[in-house]
Amino acid sequence: MIQDIGPREYDNHYTEQSPRAEDWLLIYWGEEVLLKYQDGSICYPRVREVELADREVTYLFSISEERFFLLKSGLEEGLPGCVWEKPAVFRDARPRYLGFAGITGQQLNAWYRSNRFCGGCGAPMVPDHTERMVRCERCGNLVYPKICPGVIVAVTDGNRLLLTKYANRPGNVNYALVAGFTEIGETLEGTVRREVMEEVGLKVKNLRYYKSQPWSFSSTLLCGFYCEVDGSTEVRLDTEELAVAEWFEREDIPLDNDGVSLTREMIHMFKTGQM
Ligand SMILES: [Zn+2]
Repeated sequence: MIQDIGPREYDNHYTEQSPRAEDWLLIYWGEEVLLKYQDGSICYPRVREVELADREVTYLFSISEERFFLLKSGLEEGLPGCVWEKPAVFRDARPRYLGFAGITGQQLNAWYRSNRFCGGCGAPMVPDHTERMVRCERCGNLVYPKICPGVIVAVTDGNRLLLTKYANRPGNVNYALVAGFTEIGETLEGTVRREVMEEVGLKVKNLRYYKSQPWSFSSTLLCGFYCEVDGSTEVRLDTEELAVAEWFEREDIPLDNDGVSLTREMIHMFKTGQM
């Protein structure tokens, strides 16, 4: 999956650090990221390539020995040899650890950008020196990075798996699994039961947690569950959310593992009889 970057290790423990010439600099503008292509691989500008002057730079994280910094002011004019790309490029980017760095940095950048001012009193927020947090010196408001939990649900019925397609997504031709965000005050198990009932009108039982996945494309931590239909298997589709929900026999599942998303790995595990 996108976060599987072994043998390299992701370390997002925050300490105040100064950039060195050879560190990577992640630069975002709006929804886009600045990167370079070299022989089909991506990389980013090095700190030495950018005139930092008074520009604000923040340490983000390390991947093994490589450090990543964020240029908080962006760089509208870009850089020679670099191109602006949409975050979708990170899904299949190689090397994988640099794609993971790019999308993870994007989530952190979005958090910094949307917390420049206090939501309580409107004063400018100030970065903390010891942890990744911003504080309001006027009213004392402390803001930590927010992660939205959500579930991916593989609903099974013996040898069958329920696959869905989203409504109102032109070009989205791939099947997926039931999914949705956790509401305030709800458990993950509660989210599973509610989303399955809302989207396809089925009761489920025997929930089994599978794996989680940081999905920075939507600032989400996805939690994958398998479960079984409890009672009727007749689908009642929420046509606002879904265009299709169909039962597939294990052998007939028309998708392969893409090596990127938890959804596809869960479908693959069922298809190949490992779940
Ligand atoms: Zn405040």
